[in-house]
Order: sequence, then structure tokens, then C-alpha cells
Amino acid sequence: MTGVAAPSPTPHIPRVIVTRFAPSPTGRLHLGHAYSAILAHDRARQINGRFLLRIEDIDGTRSRPEHVATTLADLAWLGLAWDGEIVHQSHRLPAYAAALDQLRDLNLLYRCYCTRADIAAASLSAPHGAEPIYPGTCLRLTDQNSDRPHCWRIDMAAAVARAGPLNWRDHATTITADPLAAGDVVLARKDAPASYHLAVTVDDAWQGVTDVVRGNDLFAATHVHRLLQALLGLPTPKYHHHRLLTAPDGTRLAKRTGAPTLAALREAGVDGRALADDLRAGRLPNRGEAS
Ligand code: GLU
Repeated sequence: MTGVAAPSPTPHIPRVIVTRFAPSPTGRLHLGHAYSAILAHDRARQINGRFLLRIEDIDGTRSRPEHVATTLADLAWLGLAWDGEIVHQSHRLPAYAAALDQLRDLNLLYRCYCTRADIAAASLSAPHGAEPIYPGTCLRLTDQNSDRPHCWRIDMAAAVARAGPLNWRDHATTITADPLAAGDVVLARKDAPASYHLAVTVDDAWQGVTDVVRGNDLFAATHVHRLLQALLGLPTPKYHHHRLLTAPDGTRLAKRTGAPTLAALREAGVDGRALADDLRAGRLPNRGEAS
């Protein structure tokens, strides 16, 4: 038979899912971290995807190597294995510097010399526990060139005007990004060459993360991350913000509310894999239902 072979039907190529767990080694992990890690792990494992581990240790004053070691032991105890090399953000500083340069070239960054006390005094009161919205004091400074200790902030109004309307997918919903609500956030700190917002955005793209699974406490940050993706020409992953675990009395499980650390449970002989299964089923160990 002669002629051109009929094209073979396009094979169904499943989307390869890449998720990550990205703890900051500034303390021990608690049940809330375990829940987040399990959800990210299981989302990848369900379809043969990849589950990555990234240590967010750019905060040199608060990060501790012993917390990294404990985190690795906690994950193993929960039965969660990660793929590939562990990424440490402290090794990625040149990548953050390059992203900052890109934004600086777009005239979207300015130096800020304010101290925390200056900002607290000049800001409208912030909701309890939230960072005050920066009042823009240094944006109006005519002398921007002093090398006095400074951080770098994004000129959010200019950045939003440049990027135009943006949205992202969260579970099955389309969310309209509202980065203006965060104000002129810090992208490089006085004491660290990047901030959480910048490092997380750059690294999720660099690691090929397709699905970000993290707690609702970081939902507001996603508005900023979506904007940075647009400005830096990076892809936008899908987001799956999840509920936060609460104790039966409704308080959020966190170190400061007295939640047990995973290390304490592990050292007390609790079975980590069984605990992980309890969390999957929405049960808190010996505390009734997770709500
Ligand atoms: N490092 C952040 C934390 O421990 C989480 C980062 C993220 O999931 O985007 O709260």
C-alpha cells in the first residue's frame, strides 16, 4: 500500500502534577503542618505525580538547622516520602536577586527606610495579627539613593496598572486577584535578599510546581504571588487552599495555641502513619473530629 500513513490519534497525555511542601524551619511542625503536607503529598501520589520538599530558610535570624532535621524525621514518621533533591531557599539567593533586578528594571521597586515602629505609627490599625498596610511613606521620598539600611517594596499601584486584570484557579473556582489590598509589600528584606512573597513565587515556577496545596492562612498572599507571576513572566499553578485544623473549642491549631508538635507525638510513641490516616479522614488524634 502506498500513500501517507494516517496520523495516529493524539495520545491522551495526562497532566503531570507536581506539588510541594514548603516549611520554614523556624520552629517544630505541628498537626496543621502535617495536614498540609499530607494533602500535598496525596494529591501528587494519586496520579503518579511528584511531591517536592522545599525548606524556606531565607530568614537567617530565625531558621535553625535542627528544625530541618526534625522536619525530615517528622515526614518520614508520617509515611510521606518526597521526590528528588530537597531545595533550600538559602541556596537560591542569586535567582531571587535576578527576579528583583527584573522588577527594578520595570521601575516597580523602591527603597524603604522605615522601621517597624515608623510603620506602626503611620498605619491605619491592622486587624489583629495582620501586617499593617504600608502607608507609602518612602514612595514619596525624593532621595531614594541613600544606602542606609533599607528593604525593597513594590509600588503596588504601578505594578497592578502594568499587569492588568488577573485571576487564578482555586479548587474549581476562578478567583479575581486583588493585590492592591496587600499594599506595597516587601520583596527584599533589610536582613535577607528576598522576602517570602518573592522567593515562593520564583521557586514554585523554577521547580515546576503545578498545584500549590497550602492552608487558607496563605490565601491572601496568593493575590500578590499571582501579580508577581505576571510581572516576571512565570506560569500560574493551580491553587488548593485548604481549611485550617482547629481544636474542638474552635481555636486554630498552632504552636502558640499549645498544639502538640509532631516531634512530641513521635517521641511519645504515637504511630505516625496511623495519625496521618486519621488526619486524612478528618479526625484529630484523641481530640475528636477536625473541624
Ligand atoms: N514557608 C511557608 C510556611 O511555612 C509556606 C509557604 C507556602 O506554602 O507557600 O508558612
